Amino acid sequence: MDESRLVGQVLPGEAGYRVCTRCIMDTTDPDIVFDAKGVCDNCRRFETQLKVRVVPEDRRQEVLDSVVRKIKRSGNGREYDCIVGVSGGTDSTYLVYMAKKIGLRPLAVHFDNGWDSETAVRNIERTLKKLDVDLFTYVVDWDEFRDLQLSFLKASTPDAEIPTDHGIIALLYRVAGQRGIRYILDGTNFAAEGLGPETSWAYGHLDWHYIKSVQKKFGSARLKSFPHLSVARLAYHVLVGRTVFVSVLNYLDFSRDKAIATLTNELGWEYYGGKHCESVYTRFFQSYILPRKFHIDKRKRHLSSLIMSTKEITRERALEEIARAPMPDDVVNRDRAFVLKKLGLRETDFEKLMNLPVKSFRDYANMHSMFRLRQKTLSVGRKIGFATR
Ligand SMILES: [Zn+2]
Repeated sequence: MDESRLVGQVLPGEAGYRVCTRCIMDTTDPDIVFDAKGVCDNCRRFETQLKVRVVPEDRRQEVLDSVVRKIKRSGNGREYDCIVGVSGGTDSTYLVYMAKKIGLRPLAVHFDNGWDSETAVRNIERTLKKLDVDLFTYVVDWDEFRDLQLSFLKASTPDAEIPTDHGIIALLYRVAGQRGIRYILDGTNFAAEGLGPETSWAYGHLDWHYIKSVQKKFGSARLKSFPHLSVARLAYHVLVGRTVFVSVLNYLDFSRDKAIATLTNELGWEYYGGKHCESVYTRFFQSYILPRKFHIDKRKRHLSSLIMSTKEITRERALEEIARAPMPDDVVNRDRAFVLKKLGLRETDFEKLMNLPVKSFRDYANMHSMFRLRQKTLSVGRKIGFATR
């Protein structure tokens, strides 16, 4: 077995390598399936989901008004009517901006995992002050979190960003529960990032069982304070607390370029270069560890989404863009030195981690079958208008 890749991956230049004829997903997605026309399952699935997740243009105002009414009603007599998770990046900052614009009273919540870029911190402070929005920041216990991040690098799966995603969701639920706030606005933007493999490129943002089992196997610290969500806790928040996530960007005519212009001009927000680059670790993980070790280039998901949903970019332009390096060499080298130092890794330790046999979440304890069922139920709920988008 070839341990330098995910089972089933075929890489550029090899016999059997294929790119979808409509989007730019390729056989570096080990689960990709092509139809007779050479169109892949990722863009077929995206096309179907897009109709459910993103509100059609002619109904946007009406649907948004109805959601806003519900949120306002739920917040009657309370200091805040919703929570917004903020990272300092484009999507979440625009989300707070829009929340204020449509008359909501949000509490901004920030999960500080130790990797914020200086620009991100400046952006959060400056924009929230201008918008007059209160901020609650949770700072992780660095020793615990560092140990957890190292555990995921040792587990050798492409999921090393999952602990942060999980921590954010758990924190938002926790704050919502403590303050009796029902609505959490999140910056998911299905049209711009919804296309892609279901699990092979990243899995587990809700699966605490998986995270815990990786930490148990490779970690040395006990996760005492790290915000987490067991299945029972998640069920409690959803069924008893009736806490609801609303991806507001799916209800708006959202264009990232326009959002950047608005935020820069009106709030003094600064662009930090690239998607999800408000965190130094995320930037390094996506531009170095993922492509070099796992042969995964996340830009393919994002650009394919844009080709299919907005026609903002053609397939040819996207292929040209993907041929360029994800990040300039000087940025990658600077990030690499910073990440190694912060994690306490020597060059040789890091090289060893990079050369470990590639694994998937299936090699560890997980609750994937349960979360798949949840996903399917949610899709049906969205189709019949029962669940939010
Ligand atoms: Zn495709």
